[in-house]
Amino acid sequence: MIPEHDARQAIALAGQGANVSEIARRLGHDRKTIRIYLNGHRAPGQPRPHADSYAPFAAYILQRTADDRHLRGAGLHLEITALGYAGSYSALTRELRGHGITAACRTCKPWQPVTPAPGQRPALLPVRVAPITGETTSSYLARTAAASHLPLSAITDVLPPWFAVRAAACDDIAKPGLLQPGDTSCLAALTGIAETALRHALPALAGHRDDGRPPVRATIACRRCAARHGQHDPVPVHLPAHQRTCQRHPAWLGRAIQINLAAVPGITRAGKQASRLARQHGITRLVLAETTARQETASGPGTRQRAAELALANPGLDPEHPDTAEAAAYPDTIKMAVALLSTPGALPAGPE
Ligand SMILES: [Zn+2]
Ligand SMILES: [Zn+2]
Repeated sequence: MIPEHDARQAIALAGQGANVSEIARRLGHDRKTIRIYLNGHRAPGQPRPHADSYAPFAAYILQRTADDRHLRGAGLHLEITALGYAGSYSALTRELRGHGITAACRTCKPWQPVTPAPGQRPALLPVRVAPITGETTSSYLARTAAASHLPLSAITDVLPPWFAVRAAACDDIAKPGLLQPGDTSCLAALTGIAETALRHALPALAGHRDDGRPPVRATIACRRCAARHGQHDPVPVHLPAHQRTCQRHPAWLGRAIQINLAAVPGITRAGKQASRLARQHGITRLVLAETTARQETASGPGTRQRAAELALANPGLDPEHPDTAEAAAYPDTIKMAVALLSTPGALPAGPE
């Protein structure tokens, strides 16, 4: 908050045609603060909304930290600031502590520095292994080695050192800058899989914005998709943070369980609509709308009906399981998310 007199002066200067940078310089406040007054997000003299700035994001934060345990405080702060959170980083960490949320993974080891080796193209392996969408580096390299009856080290020894580091890492999409040009083509030469296909399937190779972690959820690949690849053990993947369904089968990809959705096609349709909404509004904004909506939709009559239908079609499925409940509420959740996304003021406004 800036003194009321300064805020009024900022608005007057803007009225005379001064831009944000000029006003910020002249009054000695930062541009972000000046914008808050010029956009009308806060009236002159009105205190900063400290107490309740966390509340609209509480459900979002719970979901994101549960879905991606490598999303640390700083990354989370970047995400919610872009969605309109007004608090500082230290205010957020205070809130996280207060709510008992520990964002950081406890099993991660510090990164070893990687020295790029002189490039040498490895020989093609006898067995071709296609990557599964979203697969982690360690999973893909381990499957590739096993298919050719080789130890993992036989593969990492002939690849650039980046791969050995990633294969050993708990979180293979951190610090994306370490990937050297040409590294992916070495993997392509070894596996016989096209570079574009590798980059498309393996998030660690995709290359990310430098300013943050991509919004992903760590989960297990659709079991039936993995089985098509001859893979019967769970395959760890990073999926876009909003993606809850496999459209091909169709299946609900919950936190703990996967549910066959054939009996309740409305849930699969909602998944398709969610993909469209994510393209239109951005992944994190959609997740914010969903987590806000779910507080209303979790106990509706449609939700109870669908939970019963799912349990009937999936023997042994607990209709009260949190994943079942979330799947059953999903068509209503997405319907309400659409309303929230299209109603001005229904969700916190972004910073601009
Ligand atoms: Zn970790
Ligand atoms: Zn599938």
